Amino acid sequence: MSTDEWRSATSEMAVQQFDIAADRLVIDPNVAGRLRRPERAMIVSVPTRMDDGHVHVFTGYRVQHNDVLGPFKGGIRYHPAVNLGEVSALAMWMTWKCSLVGLPLGGAKGGIACDPAKLSRNEVQSMTRRFTAEILNFIGPDVDVPAPDMGTNEQVMAWIMDTYSQHKGHAVPEVVTGKPVAIGGTLGRREATGHGVVYMVIEAAKHLGIDLTKCTAVVQGFGNVGSIAVKELANIGVRVIGVSDRTGGFVDTKGLPVGKLLEVADKNHSLEGCPYGGRISNEELLELKCDVLVPAALEMQITKANAARLQCRILAEGANGPTTPEADAILRDKGVFVIPDILANAGGVVVSYFEWVQDLQNFFWTEEEVNKKLRDILTKAFHEVLNMSQKHSVDMRLAALMIGIDRVARAMLWRGFYA
Ligand code: NAD
Repeated sequence: MSTDEWRSATSEMAVQQFDIAADRLVIDPNVAGRLRRPERAMIVSVPTRMDDGHVHVFTGYRVQHNDVLGPFKGGIRYHPAVNLGEVSALAMWMTWKCSLVGLPLGGAKGGIACDPAKLSRNEVQSMTRRFTAEILNFIGPDVDVPAPDMGTNEQVMAWIMDTYSQHKGHAVPEVVTGKPVAIGGTLGRREATGHGVVYMVIEAAKHLGIDLTKCTAVVQGFGNVGSIAVKELANIGVRVIGVSDRTGGFVDTKGLPVGKLLEVADKNHSLEGCPYGGRISNEELLELKCDVLVPAALEMQITKANAARLQCRILAEGANGPTTPEADAILRDKGVFVIPDILANAGGVVVSYFEWVQDLQNFFWTEEEVNKKLRDILTKAFHEVLNMSQKHSVDMRLAALMIGIDRVARAMLWRGFYA
């Protein structure tokens, strides 16, 4: 791209993080120049027949940041705030994430600016199929493999897989991950990101000498990542005292009834009207006194405006980009142990990788195998990041970015990829 249309507050943040790590690593400036921007960014019009008969034209995006290590990989987001800058930032973070956990995959992201809660099932299906048709020549099992993200789920992945397969004339399950198990999905994918968050909290607590059974947790966002994190935290004996979703938050310092919250969310697709605990805003929720805070919703939730008021000991970033660089500096001074997004939420892409491998081999694993392999990969990555952070006296985010970026930069030099 010749201009900087892809830049926005979120992509500035991703580039700022990259620059800090690249400076520290002393990366070849030619490679750094290439890595600061995506390889390819697409904006597509997605005309969709609405239930009332009129055609609404949505705007869709797919940004492919870097594929030096393997095919592009990254989720598809349906949310009103989706724009080219946000998708570009998320694509860049995917590159570092895949590299950090040692996957032979690159970084991409996509999305449609829409509010899925206001669309009917038919409308979401039509919009998804048209979006898939628009990006069809740029995705594929060896090229770019989408997955779910905020606002999308296994049904949306099934429609993408079906549209792609219709064009190819045969079933191509390996074109997406996060599909239903019935059509080539893997066991354990739905829970993978939330499981990964909790595996990382367990490692952090061991490192800090904290007994999690005496701890409290607060989780922002109650979707795929947040609800599974809440469930697993409760399973290991953590008292969950605060949860929230787009409709607001709920707090009970004695502990919320996790099983009942999950039932409400399952039935209503939100926590709205939930009769448990007191009401609290999303802003107040983040500032509750707790041991473990898990942001699992949107970017830029923890900024210089509220970071000083956070009262957690461990911040486990289920969401992508929830903390700004200014907030990072404040949290560092406060001694909060941050498990950065590209490590904390990497469970999703790790099990997506397992799904892709199983599809390519037509040979499927048990859930126990999936979970064991996931935990091994994430635990290894946690200790690599911790060692890097101790060796270079840097925080966990910088350490994780340094490992991820360094592997990509080395691969680019080997391949002469930047010129
Ligand atoms: P989801 O759509 O399943 O759930 C999102 C949740 O956030 C919902 O409960 C929604 O109500 C809530 N939410 C939306 N706006 C909010 C706001 N302003 N304040 C508080 N809550 C709000 O999405 P998800 O898949 O759980 O993704 C959540 C985050 O995790 C995103 O940042 C995503 O990029 C990241 N992530 C997801 C995966 C995955 O496998 N799904 C993997 C890695 C990272």
